[in-house]
Order: sequence, then C-alpha cells, then structure tokens
Amino acid sequence: MRKQWSESLKKLIRPILFRMFPSSSPAYHCPLCGYRGSFKDKHVRKSPQLVRVSSKCPQCTSTERHRMMHLVLGELFQDWNPSDKSVLHIAPEDCLAKDLKNRFATYHSADLFKKGVDFQEDIQKMRFPDAAYDCVLVSRVLTVPPDLEASLGEIRRILKPRGIAILAEAYTHKKTDEFGEWRNERSREVGIDLLENLESRFGRVDRYLSDRYEEENQIHNLMVEDGTPKDSYPEAVRLKGRGFMDLVVVCHA
Ligand SMILES: [Zn+2]
Repeated sequence: MRKQWSESLKKLIRPILFRMFPSSSPAYHCPLCGYRGSFKDKHVRKSPQLVRVSSKCPQCTSTERHRMMHLVLGELFQDWNPSDKSVLHIAPEDCLAKDLKNRFATYHSADLFKKGVDFQEDIQKMRFPDAAYDCVLVSRVLTVPPDLEASLGEIRRILKPRGIAILAEAYTHKKTDEFGEWRNERSREVGIDLLENLESRFGRVDRYLSDRYEEENQIHNLMVEDGTPKDSYPEAVRLKGRGFMDLVVVCHA
C-alpha cells in the first residue's frame, strides 16, 4: 500500500520537476499520455554499460517501444478494424493492455510467469485450440523461450485465417545470436534474419520502422555505450551515430 502510494506520488511529481528544471535534451511529445518535455535516460538492465538516451516518459513511464507500438496500432487499425475481434496479448505490458482493451471486443492476456493474467501459458506449447484468435501481440518476448521455432509455430497455429500477429523485437544483429544456454534471463538476441523466418511462415509480413513517425515522439533507440554513441547495428535498422530504429512487424496469416 505504502509502495503504491509512493509510486503514485512519484508519477505526479516527476513531470513537474522535469518542467521546472529542464535538461539540455530536446523536448518530446508522448503520444500515450500527451506529456511534452524531456524524457529520461535509462540504463539497460541486462547490459549496464549501455544507456538508452531520452527513453522514458516521466509522466506515464512509457519507453520507446511502447510509444512505437501505440503509433503502429493507430495506423494499422485504420484498415484492420479490431472492434469485433479477439486479441491474445502475450507477456502483457500495462500501458499497451489498456489500449488493446479499448480497441478489441475480446482481450486476453497470457504469460508463463506473471501473475494476474488470464492464462498461464508457455509460448512454446500453448493449450489454445488452432485458430483461436484474430490477433496475437508479442512484444520483446522472443529472446526468452529456449525454442524459437516452436514459439513461432505456436503463434501461427493459434491465429484465425486472415488474423494478424504483431511482433516487436530489438533487432540488434544481422543473424540471430543463439546462446545455446540460459543467460541473463534470455536464450538469444534477435537478428534481422528473423524476418525471413516469418516470411516463410506467413502470407505477408509488413515492416513498420520508427522513421515513419515524427521524431518528437522519440521512438528510436538512441544508444550510448560507456559514454560514446553506439551504432553498430544491422544496416536495415541502423541510425548513423545515434543507435537503431525500432521495428514492429505485422504478419498476416
Ligand atoms: Zn507518456
């Protein structure tokens, strides 16, 4: 209770402080909560030498990927009406869950470890029947399960005909780096070659890169390593001298 109260207070005070003591970083606009001002830098938990510059909105705590997904969904749903459809949100993030509940007729969440979800499921072997959902949304999950092929097969299996899978990962390599072991709560880092894999499984795979939206939404991954900008990322997503673009793919069954 006390923790909840202090979190709410922090949420209230942070944006006020940011406006009173503006930093030298540019002013951004959060499409999720409407906040305007500086965003916070964020240390990458699994690689402490890496910093994501201007990552976090001080008002709603969204990061680049949440704002990116919000913009992609807004664009996607202009043509693909979700109001009479069902969605399965795997490893649900609160700020996206709210958005999806508002848009879809049926919203279900699933996770293997997280409590409070609708279904406790392992993405590698889900208990849903074939063609159970119109949409499956998977954001920053595919680095975790040991068996990537099984996970992709399951996502495809539970999609209805003409359904869509919305997948978001950080594509930091040309070729997926399989660890062959459980390291830092992950089994791999994802490469651009995942897109070919998806293209072999789905009828059509559409790519949404963060450069299609306004810079003021700050949806690029602006990376600094030990104080120096890092841009050693695959050409398809590389931002010269700045980091890499966020990429969301929409796979049509
Ligand atoms: Zn925000």
